[in-house]
Parts: sequence; structure tokens; C-alpha cells
Amino acid sequence: MVVDTPQVRSSLDILYHITREFDSQLELDRVIERVLSAVVTTLKVHEASLLIFDMWGKPENLLLVNQFGVYPLNIAASDSVSHHRIIAWVREHRQGVLIKDTTTDPRWFTDDAGSQFSRARSALVLPVELQEQLIGVLTLTASEPDYFDDETLAMLRIIADQAAFALHNDRLIKAEQKRRRFADTLASIAHTINSTLDLNQVLNLILEQLALVIDYDTCSVLLLEGDTLSVRAARAFEDMEDALHVVITLDDVEQPNYQAILRRQPILINDVDVVPNWIKSPSSQKVRSWIGAPLIARDEVIGMLTVDSHQVNKYTHENLQEVAAFAEQVATAMSNAQIVAQLRNMEDSYTILFEDSTDMSIITDYYGQIMNANRKACQMLRRTKEALIGSPISLIDRRLTNVLLENTKRLKAWREVSLELDITDAYHETVSLEMNARHVDYGGKDCVQWVGRDISVRKQSEKMRQDLINMLVHDLRGPVGNLVNTIELLPMLLQSVTEDPKISTFFELAKRSGQEVRDLIDSMLDVGRLEAGEIYLQRSVVDLDEIVQAVKDQVTQRAASKKMELVFNPLPSLPEIWIDPGMIRRVLINLVDNAIKYTPHQGRVSLTVSESDKALHFAVSDNGAGISKEHQARIFNKFSRVDHSSNAPSGVGLGLAFCKLAVEAHGGHIWVESEGIVGHGSTFHFSIPILTPPEA
Ligand code: ADP
Repeated sequence: MVVDTPQVRSSLDILYHITREFDSQLELDRVIERVLSAVVTTLKVHEASLLIFDMWGKPENLLLVNQFGVYPLNIAASDSVSHHRIIAWVREHRQGVLIKDTTTDPRWFTDDAGSQFSRARSALVLPVELQEQLIGVLTLTASEPDYFDDETLAMLRIIADQAAFALHNDRLIKAEQKRRRFADTLASIAHTINSTLDLNQVLNLILEQLALVIDYDTCSVLLLEGDTLSVRAARAFEDMEDALHVVITLDDVEQPNYQAILRRQPILINDVDVVPNWIKSPSSQKVRSWIGAPLIARDEVIGMLTVDSHQVNKYTHENLQEVAAFAEQVATAMSNAQIVAQLRNMEDSYTILFEDSTDMSIITDYYGQIMNANRKACQMLRRTKEALIGSPISLIDRRLTNVLLENTKRLKAWREVSLELDITDAYHETVSLEMNARHVDYGGKDCVQWVGRDISVRKQSEKMRQDLINMLVHDLRGPVGNLVNTIELLPMLLQSVTEDPKISTFFELAKRSGQEVRDLIDSMLDVGRLEAGEIYLQRSVVDLDEIVQAVKDQVTQRAASKKMELVFNPLPSLPEIWIDPGMIRRVLINLVDNAIKYTPHQGRVSLTVSESDKALHFAVSDNGAGISKEHQARIFNKFSRVDHSSNAPSGVGLGLAFCKLAVEAHGGHIWVESEGIVGHGSTFHFSIPILTPPEA
């Protein structure tokens, strides 16, 4: 095998470079841009591009780099490039292609004037995929024939794999962030609706909030009066005056608005220009994609919420559901306001609002006796109003009595109390509730209003997501393990080249990164299993010195790169101990790694081990930023991080959660001491009982 040719060297150079790029903390768009630029410069190719598909296989974006510059992400270009024959071929066959001469290869299609494809004489085209899902297509083109070889194809495949991983992770993280943002937005709207009845204010707020979750150019709320829809609120139109005066007559049953009202279902249109019955008003000339959701209040359609984009094919099915969820809130706000307007002078307006709320609402006195319950409460608890009124709140759940007792003072000071709990309804089925309790004046008497929302579906979907993640992580373990083992073996096989310091750094980096990924995967799996109560400690009698040494080996390089002082002070002779060595090693690595990560350059990190009362006590100290008292209790929770800013060190907030579970599984406990003062640092302690194996 020829391993030390100039080509191999340049391939190694570029892979070294690219691995570092993917390892960096930059935004993913920037990383891909830099990776493609590095490929163009090093391989002297004509152009490099990455076409990205969305979850449904629709072209989402295109990033193009050539010798003259970077052409940042461009959605329109992605659409045109995706129609090329070679892209279709790669999508269908899911194989990398080496095109030696574009003029003779039938898979190449040159009719189109797209710059990349018309001037290319040879090309490399590769699918970017992860777990059989096609995420994109990576293309390199050269202006001469026969420019690429199989080695470059192999190298490009490694880049495609890394890109697939990075894109996939980025997508998972963005989806999660979006889901959270959406839930928060809906919660804040519901809160505003409950606290103000000024319709203009509520509608404007809703449209403003809608912009946070859906990318729209314009949007409107229309009111149904007889057979006309007239705009009641609008946002982002160039001519707002005109937009607020639009009136649509519902005279054609095929018209999308008419259809949505008739079917009482939201409708998504990918391109309004191909809908024959579409009516354009002067203010909506540029609209191309459209979502319209009917506003349904007390079982009656009262209007429409519409969202427009100037782009064709802009919205997904998910967007449709999001608009529908917003429409529900708009309808509640409008019907509340209508009722208040109609019944302003009548005393029972509050009762109607209470009855028609989309949330369950119960009023109790401070002794916990139920004074009133709305329709939704009866529905959710599957009990009649008669059965509820007069009963104690413990009928719903005993814990609520305690909540009331413990929080009386707080509630009377007009502060809200929130909690999540699973209760059982009258038919012994579990309902997951998010409850908010607050003080109200009910008929001149001090009472508590309990507003509850059914979050069973959310909880179930969270569980499904967690199961899915566990499955994915589990599947990753095998391939990553192979990768790490191979990387460990390679330097032995290629002894002559590993003398080159650059190559050995490259191997070191790959080995360390691989080990880190393997540890992260193990921690994720362990967190899942330990949480599920699956006891599976693989205890053996081990020499602690060996564990401490392994920890030291793994962190030394990282400490050195930050010029940090690393002090390991274990006992002069450490006892043998019966533990799960892999788990305790990872606990220590997590703690020391954190200490290095959250302490500035030239800081100091120490590990001490001591023995007392038949327990081993470990302490990891640093002189970094410290952790405030407020955060100390939370950091051991999953995904809890103190600093969420973009310049915070990277991490997912899983390390300490794993440490806690692992230490507790050993019958020990873990805690942190810190004054929360920058420079005074923190000390993480944990102790585990010294056990001996049971006699065989
Ligand atoms: P991650 O490091 O991935 O965020 P961890 O669970 O290991 O996750 O830590 C949770 C949070 O606790 C970190 O985000 C950080 O804010 C804080 N933390 C952990 N260790 C330290 C430390 N030694 N000094 C300061 N803050 C720390």
C-alpha cells in the first residue's frame, strides 16, 4: 500500500483541517462555507457546492463556493440545481459518482445554463446521508476532464459523512428550540388573553408572537359577517391603510377562504398563482404561499387567520398546525372580547368567560372546598358539576391540599403557584396537568382559582422523542466504537508516516474526539437507563490508581492547551474498591473536564481522593467562574446550563446529570460548593461507600 504520496499528504492535510472546522464552535453555515472553501483552495477545483434538502426531501438551500468567492445560502438556486439530471441520479441511487468527462457521461445534463454545471468538464457528486435519510448532495466540479480520482472520492465521502452528522445534529437542536419557543409563545398569549380584554391589544400581540414562530411576509385576522370577511387586524403590509379595509365576499365556494370556513379546517396553498379562484387585492399582489385557518369560537366559525409569504412553497404541514394553534387563541380572544362588549353591564359576564375558557378552571376557598368548576374541568375530570361543587380539592388529587396549605401566604400576596402533576380522573385514567393557582375575589370572598391545562399529549410526545433519541444513540455506539478502534490501530499499521508530527497530531485528535463521542454516547445511554431504574452496574474490584491515571491521560492534553496547572493528589496508596470502573472514570472525567472548561486560561484544577468512614471521598476544585447558589441546585438536572450565551463553552448539560445518577447508583452522593465569585471557583465533591464483593 502506498501511503506517503503527495496526494495522500494533501488529503490528510485537508481532512485534518476539516475535522478541526467541524470541531469548532462556529455557526453551521459558516463551518460548511469554510469547509467548501478549503476544498476549493486545496484541490484547486472549479466549484464546490452543497445542496441541502429539508425533512421532506424538498430542496432547502444551496451553498456554493468557487475560486472567486462564496455565494451564501440561496433558496431559489437550490430549487433550480435540484432539477439537474445528475442530482436526480444521485438522489435515486444514493451513490457517489465520479464523472470523468461531462460531455460523454449520459448521467450529466448540460442544457441548463446553471454556472456550476455548464462549465464543468469533470465532477464528483455524493449523497450526504445519515441513517438512510438523504440530507443533501455534495458536488465538486473541475473545468478539465479527468480531474478527479477514486481517492478524492473517498475523501469527499468522509467530508460528506461529517457534514451529514453536523447538519443532522443542527436540525435536531433547532427543532427542539423551535418546539420550546412555540410552547412558550402559546403560554404567553394565553396569559395575556386571561389578563386583558382589550381586543386590539391581544390581536396585535398574537400577530407579533406569530412572527416568532412562522416566517411570514404579511398576516391578517378577518372577521366573518354574513357572507363577507373583513380585515380586523393585520401586520407587515406595505400599505396598512389599504390592508385594514380589505373585504372579501364569499361568493365562490371553491375559494380557499370559503373552503376553510366550510370544512372548518386550516388550508395550505403552495402557490396561489395556480389556484384559479384566488382573488388578489391591491395589498396582496405579491402573495404566493398561503395558510388560512378558521377561527372557531363556541362551535361557530367567526373569522379567519391568514398568513402569507411572497415565496412559492414556503410552508410545511407543521406550519399549518402552528397557524391552527394560533387561530384557536385568536378565536378565544375574540369571543371573550365580543362577550364582554355584549354583556358589559351584566353581572354574569365573568361566569361566561369562566365557562367558555379553553382551560379547566376550578375555584376553591382557602380550606380547599370547591366553589365552582367550569365545563372544561368537568370534561377533563369526567365528573359532573354537582359532584365537584362542595367537594374538597383532594377529590381531584390529595397533593393539591398540601399545595394549598404550603402556599397560602404566597397566594394571598397575589403571587401565582405553578405545578405539573399526573392525576386520575373519575374512570381511573391518568391525565397530565399543568396547573396554575392564583388568588381571586369570588363574590366578595378570598378564593383560589386553579387553571389547568392537559399536557398529556405533550408528555407523550416528549417520551416518544426521548425513546427515539435513546434508540439513535444506541445505534451510534457500534459504528463509533469501530471507528475509535480503527483509529487506534492505524498508527501501528502505518509506522513510517506516524513519525511525521502533523500526522500523529491528526491521529491524536481523531482518537481523542472519538473517545469523547463514545463517552458522550455512553453517558446518554446511562442517563436513560439509570433514570428508568434499570440497575446494571458492572462492578469489579479495581485499583483506583489505574482509574485516576486513565483520567489524567485523557485530560492532560486539554489542560495543557489552556496552559492550566493540573494537580492530582490521590491517597498515597489507594484502596481496592468494588465499583463500576467505566462509570466512575467517566464521572471523574466529566468533573475534571468541566473544571477545565469553565476556568479561564492558566487556571488551576485539582483532584483529591481521601478515605473516611468506610467511604471514598473525591473532590475536584478549580479557580474559575464559580456557580451562584441559585444555580447550584439546578445544574445536576438534565440539560441545565448556567450560561446560554453564544460564547459560553460548548456542552449539552448532560454531564452532571449523568454524574449524579452514576454516583447515586453506587449508593453515594454528589454536591457542589461554591461562593459564586469569579476567581474563587467551585469544588465538586462526591463520596461512595467502600464495598467488597459478596462472597461467591
Ligand atoms: P455542560 O458542561 O455540557 O453544560 P454539565 O452537566 O457538565 O453540562 O454542567 C452543567 C452546567 O454547570 C454547565 O453548563 C456550567 O454552567 C455549570 N458548571 C459545571 N461545572 C462547572 C465548573 N467547574 N465551574 C463553573 N460552572 C460549572
